[in-house]
Amino acid sequence: MSGQEDDKAQERAPATRLVQAGRRAEWTGMPGQPGGIVNPPVWRASTILYENVAHLRGAVMGEPHKLYYGRRGAPTSWSLAEALTQMEPEAAGTMLYPSGVAAIMGAMLAVLRPGDEFLMVDSTYGPSRSLCDGLLREIGVTTIYYDPLIGGEIAKLCTERTRAIFLESPGSLTFEVQDVPAIAAVARERGIVTMIDNTWATPLLLPALGLGVDISILACTKYIVGHSDVMMGSVTANDALWGTIRNRAHMLGQMASPDDAWLALRGLRTLEVRMRRQGESALALARWLEARPEVARVLHPALPGCPGHDAWARDFRGAAGLFAFELAGGGEAERARLIDNLALFGIGYSWGGFESLALPVDPANLRTATRWEERGPLVRINVGLEDVDDLIADFDQAFTQWRAAMGR
Ligand SMILES: *Cc1c(COP(=O)(O)O)cnc(C)c1O
Repeated sequence: MSGQEDDKAQERAPATRLVQAGRRAEWTGMPGQPGGIVNPPVWRASTILYENVAHLRGAVMGEPHKLYYGRRGAPTSWSLAEALTQMEPEAAGTMLYPSGVAAIMGAMLAVLRPGDEFLMVDSTYGPSRSLCDGLLREIGVTTIYYDPLIGGEIAKLCTERTRAIFLESPGSLTFEVQDVPAIAAVARERGIVTMIDNTWATPLLLPALGLGVDISILACTKYIVGHSDVMMGSVTANDALWGTIRNRAHMLGQMASPDDAWLALRGLRTLEVRMRRQGESALALARWLEARPEVARVLHPALPGCPGHDAWARDFRGAAGLFAFELAGGGEAERARLIDNLALFGIGYSWGGFESLALPVDPANLRTATRWEERGPLVRINVGLEDVDDLIADFDQAFTQWRAAMGR
């Protein structure tokens, strides 16, 4: 693909880019033979064979899209990385990791040094908090947690030692939407790096680099793969940070297996239709729940009551299929009774797959900078590709069981 064709590709709608991206002729065809197959095959490799010693000596480690050694990737993973890069118009490149947590760690360890201060959003994913309170603390990085709704006021927390700001919007348990452009602007002015966990929206709903963020992290495990059968993470960076991200990933030996990259590529092609359908169904279920007497509050970025809803309406191109609600009363046992009685919602961690899930979550103990004002036991819902009327009917019957447990 010539540079010129590349430029045109970036102007096309995201759904079109998802179909075209990463399918270079040299990864899907045979030399000297026109045409080729549709999907890049699985290129499994550790050893790469060279023609002779001169060829081996001439190979440059780190040259993009040249076979060198298996750890440096092969066309299957290059294709996925390139496709993810093409989803972010401001991106320079993407590295792949064996999980979302590995990607988060990869971004942190690329940027942070002993003595640095690191601003971390208080609503962040639990394992990200564990990295800050564990590994980062051990290597002398001080984490300061901040209110997800802080916006441009984050300037007050920035010091000479602040090296990076981590965002996650919306939070994947409590769904506060951050003012991403305001925080990115404060950081840019001061030479502070911004990185976002963009797993909920993906670049499809929030092209974060276009809003001034430097580094966008995905747990591809969720929507990119979309079928609940692969663990993977990615880090996409702008021109200024791309070399740093790539070099650190290479140093740490981070990569994704070609089989997993192939499955993630397959998932990526249908990302737009899955997210559109799951998003529409989730919003319909959220609105239905909002009108129910058994529900105290629904936390869904597209509903006006959600903290940060205005930022969502301004910055996002839609809503994903993950949200939460609080029950109007009861405790642990009654919440468990409700979830156990749902026939169509699996009980398990993770989300973004094609199947619906329900999970009891307790965010209060996962905060230090802000207090979680709980109105009732919280249930997080991943809406899958089932018919939404069936999902609503399922909740209807489960609420009957819950009311019985509550003696109502
Ligand atoms: C699941 C998740 C991760 C971690 O991804 P894994 O692939 O499970 O390691 C990171 N961030 C968010 C918001 C997640 O939901």
